[in-house]
Amino acid sequence: RPRVLSGIQPTADSFHFGNYLGALRQWVGLQHDHQPFFFIADLHAITVEQDPKVLRERTLRAAAQLLAMGIDPERSAIFVQSQVPAHAQLGWVLQCLTGFGEARRMTQFKDKSAKGGEGAASVGLFTYPVLQAADILLYRPHFVPVGEDQRQHLELTRDLAQRFNHRYKKTFRLPEPYILKATAKIADLQEPTAKMSKSASSAAGIIDLLDQPSVSAKKIRSAVTDSDNDVRFDRDEKPGVSNLLTIYSALTGEGVHDLVEQYAGRGYGDLKKDLAEIVVGVVTPFRDRTLELLDDQAYLSEVLRRGADQANEVAEATLRDVYQRVGFVAPT
Ligand code: ATP
Ligand code: MG
Repeated sequence: RPRVLSGIQPTADSFHFGNYLGALRQWVGLQHDHQPFFFIADLHAITVEQDPKVLRERTLRAAAQLLAMGIDPERSAIFVQSQVPAHAQLGWVLQCLTGFGEARRMTQFKDKSAKGGEGAASVGLFTYPVLQAADILLYRPHFVPVGEDQRQHLELTRDLAQRFNHRYKKTFRLPEPYILKATAKIADLQEPTAKMSKSASSAAGIIDLLDQPSVSAKKIRSAVTDSDNDVRFDRDEKPGVSNLLTIYSALTGEGVHDLVEQYAGRGYGDLKKDLAEIVVGVVTPFRDRTLELLDDQAYLSEVLRRGADQANEVAEATLRDVYQRVGFVAPT
């Protein structure tokens, strides 16, 4: 069975619809005929400042949400990144193979450091994509299910794998991004040209999976749309309406063009009202299940411990190969 690997950061109390439609739903689907490794990227989370107590809580909430969504620990290894030391260890080796200019071309650093200025950003935020390459390459996956914003990082990952394989000996598989075009970039509801983001979106711009359902419904009804009230799909001219149509279509399986026909002449109000109801139908059981799982911390810890055991076994074996090929003397 082909292997898949992906991760998500515990940078908020809840995942959002961009995470869900862009990545997590694919994780659930891929479990059946793949061998999956899914992790909570706490090492990545600290590239921006985190409160320790909050980070711990969010990591457990992340685990509960993954299980509530349908990630099955019998099929998938679910683990916390910091419990698998090989990520940081391979990350260092790959940093030494990455050009400074090459790292500087990564647009995520530019975006995420824009607010405070480059000087205030951490070096960890700068080398984030290299650690991500290590996360992936350790497991030699065939596919990496992610959203569009990760495409550039996947390209860097492939470049580094190729460079290592060429310089030393073939060690890494070149992973393919698994990006579903229709839902690869879910937009912020208030700023529909920007992506919905845990750390950058305003509260009104983001539909959290753990929001009170009535809150999610209200956010959709207040989503920014243009003023002509004509339901059409056009990402450039009508990004707000197109985003709502994308979410609607992804949740119901109805084609965007069928939806456009269905809402022709009816205006945005009807579209928003119906979508709000659909979203409530999705988040209500999800939220209940997550809260239930959060009540059983012993079970969550046990799932994560088992996941880390599985991950460590694979990751340590890869790291041993890497260390040997680089020329490090093994302990005897
Ligand atoms: P942060 O703002 O802290 O970076 P995030 O919302 O971008 O958080 P991540 O944990 O960085 O979430 O990403 C988890 C997964 O969700 C990745 O595969 C990413 O590509 C995907 N993803 C994030 N935002 C969106 C979005 N708006 N549309 C589609 N996919 C997304
Ligand atoms: Mg992100």
